[in-house]
Amino acid sequence: MPPYPFSKLNVFKTKSALGEYLAPFRKSGKRIGFVPTMGALHAGHISLIQAAKKENDLVVCSIFVNPTQFNDPEDLKKYPRPVEKDLALLEEHHCDVVFMPEVEEMYADNAPWTHDFGLLERVFEGKFRAGHFRGVGQIVKMLFESVEPHHAYFGQKDFQQFLVIKKLVSDFHMPVELTACPIVREANGLAMSSRNVHLSLEERSNAGQIFRILSQTRENLYLFPVAELEKTAMEQLALIPGASPEYFNIVNNTDLSAVTNPETEAVCVALVAVRIGKTRLIDNMILKP
Ligand code: AMP
Repeated sequence: MPPYPFSKLNVFKTKSALGEYLAPFRKSGKRIGFVPTMGALHAGHISLIQAAKKENDLVVCSIFVNPTQFNDPEDLKKYPRPVEKDLALLEEHHCDVVFMPEVEEMYADNAPWTHDFGLLERVFEGKFRAGHFRGVGQIVKMLFESVEPHHAYFGQKDFQQFLVIKKLVSDFHMPVELTACPIVREANGLAMSSRNVHLSLEERSNAGQIFRILSQTRENLYLFPVAELEKTAMEQLALIPGASPEYFNIVNNTDLSAVTNPETEAVCVALVAVRIGKTRLIDNMILKP
C-alpha cells in the first residue's frame, strides 16, 4: 500500500476502504479493539496497543490530528506529525490496521456538533481549552462509527477525556466497551506526551517535579485539609523554572466535583495543568484508593 511500505500493516485513508476491510472480520465474529490517537506515538500509546492486542482478534489504531479539538491554532500548527516513524512503531508492535484519514475525509459533510456534555465539558480542560471536548466528542463519535470497535482503549493520562467518552458512549447508546489504561511515565516521572518534544532538555528534567508534587499530595491526603494540599501544590508548581500553573484540584472520579473530605469519598484524583515555557502539560494521579 504505497507510500507506506510496511509489510503487515494495513493502512487506510478512507472510511469506506476501512469499512470494507473490517466487515468480514466483524461478520466472522472477530473482536475488534481500537486505539484512537493523534500520532507522534510513544510508549504510552503503545501500552494501549498492547492492552488491545491482549483482548481482541484485530487491533485498529487511528492517527488523526483533529482540528476541532484545538482551541489554539499555534498548538495545532506545531503538533508533531512523524508519520513514517509512527507506522514503523505500530508495525513493530503488531498493530493490524491503521486508519489515517485526511481532515476532509472526516469532515466532508461539515455537520455541526450540537451535543452538550454538560458541566463535564466546561470545567478544567474544558474551561482552559474552550470547545476542546466538543471537538473530542465529535471526532471520537465519528471514529467509533467508522471502526465500529467492540472495545476501545484510552489513557488515564487524559482523565477528563475518558469521562467525556464514557458519557458519549452512554448518551448515544454506542455498543463499545471502554478501558482506561495506566499512565506511562518517563524515568523522572514526567507523563509521556506527544507535546514533550517541545520541551528543552532542562524543561523536561524540571517537569519531573509535577509527578513529585502529585505523589507528595497523595502521601499527605489525610494529613492536611484538601484546600491546603491544593494551595501547597500550586505554590510548588509555581517554583518550577518557567512554570505557570493553571490548576491543581482534588476531585471525585465521577463528575470531577470538588472533594472536601477524602475519608468519605470513594475515589479521589488530583488533576493538574501547568505550562512549562511554551508547552502546556496535563497530568493526574489517583490519590485514593
Ligand atoms: P493523543 O495521541 O495524545 O490523543 O493520545 C491518544 C491516547 O493515548 C489517549 O487515550 C491518551 O490518553 C493516551 N495516552 C497519551 N499519553 C499517555 C501516557 N503517557 N500513558 C498512557 N496513555 C497515554
